[in-house]
Parts: sequence; C-alpha cells; structure tokens
Amino acid sequence: MALRMSSLFVRTQKEDPVGAEVASHKLLHRAGYIRRSAPGIYTWLPLGLQVLGKIEAIVREEMARAGSQEVHFPGLLPADPYRKSGRWEAFGPDLFHLQDRKDNDYILAPTHEEVFTLLVKDLYSSYKDLPLSIYQVQTKYRDEARPRAGLLRGREFIMKDAYSFDIDDAGLDASYEAMRVAYLRAFARLGLPCLPVRATPGAMGGSGTEEFIYPSEVGEDTFVRSPGGYAANVEAVTSIVPDAIEYSLSPAARVEDTPDTPTIETLVDAANANHPREDRAWTAADTLKNVVCAITHPDGTREIIVIGLPGDREVDLDRAAGTGMLGNGEVGLEAATAEDLAAHPELVKGYIGPGLSPETQLLGLEGSSKVRFLLDPRVVDGTRWITGANEPGRHVFDLVAGRDFTSDGTIEAAQVVLGDPAPDGSGPLELARGVEIGQIFKLGRKYAESLDLKVLDQNGKATTVTMGSYGLGVTRVMACIAEEYHSETGLLWPQHLAPADVHIIAAGKGEEIAEAAETLTSELESEGVTVLLDDRGKVSPGFKFADAELIGIPTVIVVGRGLADGVVEVRNRLTDEKQDQPVAEVVASTVAAVRTAYATADGAADAAIADAAGGAAGGEVAAVADTSAL
Ligand code: ATP
Ligand code: MG
Repeated sequence: MALRMSSLFVRTQKEDPVGAEVASHKLLHRAGYIRRSAPGIYTWLPLGLQVLGKIEAIVREEMARAGSQEVHFPGLLPADPYRKSGRWEAFGPDLFHLQDRKDNDYILAPTHEEVFTLLVKDLYSSYKDLPLSIYQVQTKYRDEARPRAGLLRGREFIMKDAYSFDIDDAGLDASYEAMRVAYLRAFARLGLPCLPVRATPGAMGGSGTEEFIYPSEVGEDTFVRSPGGYAANVEAVTSIVPDAIEYSLSPAARVEDTPDTPTIETLVDAANANHPREDRAWTAADTLKNVVCAITHPDGTREIIVIGLPGDREVDLDRAAGTGMLGNGEVGLEAATAEDLAAHPELVKGYIGPGLSPETQLLGLEGSSKVRFLLDPRVVDGTRWITGANEPGRHVFDLVAGRDFTSDGTIEAAQVVLGDPAPDGSGPLELARGVEIGQIFKLGRKYAESLDLKVLDQNGKATTVTMGSYGLGVTRVMACIAEEYHSETGLLWPQHLAPADVHIIAAGKGEEIAEAAETLTSELESEGVTVLLDDRGKVSPGFKFADAELIGIPTVIVVGRGLADGVVEVRNRLTDEKQDQPVAEVVASTVAAVRTAYATADGAADAAIADAAGGAAGGEVAAVADTSAL
C-alpha cells in the first residue's frame, strides 16, 4: 500500500532541533524520520522505520550469506553473567542497571557477549556442533557520557551483533574472515565508503580487531593512513622503535641549576645557552618529560603511574588506555590530581626524573617511589636526555637510558602526529577523522573461560571454545548514510534505501491530476515499486516540492500541468535531471530504473570484495550508490 502524505504520520519541521550540530541529525528530525524522547534516545516515525528496515534487511542478508543464524535476546538481562566476566565493573558508569522487586540486579544490555556464550553452553557440548555463528539485530543501552549528533551517538541504539564459536584458532580465523567479508559487502551495498583499520581491543579483550571507519569530519575517531595502505586507529599505531645506541663514550650524567625554566621551551633555550651539547643543539625531543597519571582499577583502587616520553610529544590518555599496556580491565586513566600528588611528595612537580643511577632510582616499582614508571618505546637504551633532578630549579643532563635508569616497561602514550613515520615503512602518516560503524574482534577464550564454555574435542577431552564478536551500528549507519547523502535542502537517499522508491506529487488542482496520480501509483505498486504519494488537496505545489526535497526520495514524478499534453515530469534528484515523459511510458521506465538501482547496489558488494582481494588490503572500499540508472 502506498504511503499517502494526506494520512502519513509525519509533520515536517522548519527548525533544526535545539543544539544540533550535524546534517544527519538536523535533517532526520526536520524531515520527520525521528523525534527525540530524551537525551540520546529517539522515537522512530514511519518514514524512519522504512529506511531502517531496508538497512537491516541488507545487514541480515549479508549475515545469512556468511552463514550466521539470527536469534534474539532480551535487552533486560540479569547482572550475574556480567559480574562473572568482569564487565559489571569494566563498563563503569556507561552501564544502565536496575533492580527487580526482589532486589536482584539487572542491566540493560550494552552488548551481549556473556549471554551468547551462555546460550551456546546451554545447548552445545561437542566439537561436532562447531563452528557456529549466530547474531541478532537488537537494541543496546549505554549511558554515554556525551550522547551527541542524534543517531550517531545514542544512549539507546540498534546494533547488529554476531558471535562465532570455534574449537581452534584456525577456525576462529576463518569465522573472522567470513564476517570481515560480510561487513565489506554490507557497507558497499549500503553506499557507505568505509575503511577497515587496525584497532585495539580495549576492555573487550582478545587478540586481533579491526574497526570499520566511515571517513567523515563529523566523526569522533582519529585514524591514520600511510601511502602504502596501512590504516589504523591512533590507539593501535605502533611507533617505530629505533635500535639501541652504544653509550660507552657518552658523557656522565650531571645535575645543573636551571632556574626559570617552567616549560620545555624555556628549558631547551637555557640548556643551549648554558650547557651546550658538543655535537648539535638540544631540542625538545632531547628532554624526557615525566607525566604523573592515575589509573582507576576495576576494584576501585587508584594507582599512580609516571609515563616518560620525549618532551616534544603530548600525552594521549585515550591511546595509553586503549593499548592494553596498563594491564587488563583498567577502567580509567586520567591526569593525576593535586590530591594524588600530595600523597607522593617525592614527585616534585615540574622536576620529576628517574634519578641519577639505577642504585638511586626514584621512579619505578624498584625505585624509592614504588610508582610504576613506563616509557615511550622510543626511549631505547643509549638515548641521552635532559630531565628533572627531583629538586626545584634543577635538571639532570646526559642521563642515559639503560645506563643510568630503567623502567617497568613501555607504553604507547604519546600523541600520534601528522608526518610520523608509518609502521609499514611506506612514508609519513596522514591523519583523518571518521565514524566507527562496526568493529570485529577475535575475542579468543576470555568469555568462554570466565563463563566456562567447553565442548568435548575429538579425543573426548573438555576444551574451551574460542570466540569472535562482531558489532555493526545499524542506527549509526543510518545517520552516516544521511551524512553522505543529502543536499542543501534535505535528505537525498541512495535510490535503494529511500523510504519509498518513488515520490509522486499531484501538483495542481483538478480531478484529472488527482486521478492520474492515483492511477500511476497503483500501476507502479502492482509492479512492486513502492510509492509515497503526495495527495494532499489543500497544500500548494511549492509546499509539496519543499517536503519532497526534505524527505529525500531521489525519484520524483510530478503530475501537473503537462498532463493536458499527456506527459508527467520525472526528476532524478541524484543526477539533477528533469524530463517530461509520456504517461503511457512512465511506469515501464520507472520500474526498470528502480530495479536497476537495486541490482547495482547489490553488485557493489562483489566489486568491493574484488577490490579488497586485489591487493588493496586496508585500502578504502569505495561504495557505489547508484546514480546512473535513473
Ligand atoms: P564508540 O567508540 O563510538 O563509543 P564502541 O567502540 O564503544 O563505539 P562497540 O562496542 O565496538 O562500540 O559497538 C559496535 C558498534 O556499535 C560500533 O562500531 C558502533 O557502530 C555502534 N555503536 C556503539 N556505540 C554506539 C552509540 N552510542 N550509538 C550508536 N551506535 C553505537
Ligand atoms: Mg568499537
């Protein structure tokens, strides 16, 4: 049945929603697809549900093609499995929790690894049952600190989450690869350019993981790419570690007075003026900056650590936390507070350093501070530093790593900057912004172990299952499609994702026009083409055109004055073409064009996979939204 503007539950809006920053948020609201219920929580209107349904259908088809079967879990879950996995704590304040009338703890699920694991444990017991891949398209709840940009970051949102279960690592590799292909295919069919980038597992745990990024300025993720096709989330970039340097001839470390040097810049100037280096000038990169940070562990304890890095670099706390180098399950990393520092009077603000020799070392678990001391990987043995002397107004010169001080390990905590050398050796890194639209994980055995998912192997021995987890943000994807496809005046969907295939406007008064629009509508619908018919009697053509532009169905047929001459106007807003067509022909040509558009979008998936296989590993997969057919 055609959607009719005369009765459709929609009221287009002239005003942007309060505080909206991005086009998708503004336009989905103004065109009557969604309404805000509460911060980060949205109600879906009929037009919105049409598009959402099409996106979900494509995702479901690609899951089925990858051999995954659909199930559906409740969103309301008992807390116990999440306690066992440690995520009751690890999710921290992002987790929505509540109690039932008997005071049992429940959560609104932020993601479903635990209960999928338990479901498989409930039903399966043998290696013969594996591999298994199951998924759902389900509502997730996360009390995001900063819900923003409409559907882009909601507190309630729809995710497709899939999980794979295998007996061994080779099986997991194959399951992961099948999902990777499914994602590339799905995003290509959805018309979204996307880039698979290396990522870090964070609180999820596990080994390999990739994020699928839609490159866009509205995104909150920064990723890097190299001329050679390497692409990674900044958290996952690994620094190129220089070789250790021979230090037997390096000068001995010494403490110097350095009054009035509160910043790295003033310190470098004073060093060059008063304590010049023999071979070249000191630079900020020769200073070792020691930054005091605080980790909040899952059990609530607070640990103070010191991160040492070259003074020309800023600390990136997200990167440091995301690397997993701080130990598993940490819940937060932040700059130390005045209170933290007060508890460690030996750390002299502005003049912190490791100490003058391994025997007298201040920093580190072995040192007198007992504060963990982690170093940027570039601080290799033999490198020579100016750093704090742990006394106000004094610095150590020529402190040599490996000779004069050691650490408790390394950490990638330095901000990645434009022009840093790419880990693949192909040249300087370029930085870009994007939106994470999906992420796939080789989880390994973390959840199977904590929830005891074992099956009997070929020898009858109980073996822990290895798992993968694969998330795709369905409602976020819809926002990204709206970002990618809109014009000055409204949304502009790829043909195959529009809420209806054709928007017919009865433009003008008179029985004939109304009747011809009705006839056209039923003829198209009988061919399987869906129609949004603007049959409103008392609305001017100008208003109808404006609404059509806002709503964004790319194929518009205007039944108006031309009818007297036996023609209607067919507009393709994607190509900006307008054409008068004889009424007698318009059904056949429209049906053909719409069918071609759907087929082209499906075909884009094959092209994407061929591209990815053609050596462009990690390269961008250009999505094809068909504009040629109409
Ligand atoms: P982000 O870093 O953006 O917060 P995430 O890494 O926490 O996302 P995952 O746990 O990997 O998200 O969830 C899988 C997918 O679900 C994401 O790739 C994203 O597409 C979607 N998603 C996650 N959080 C949200 C949200 N708040 N609103 C809408 N979609 C989301
Ligand atoms: Mg993610």
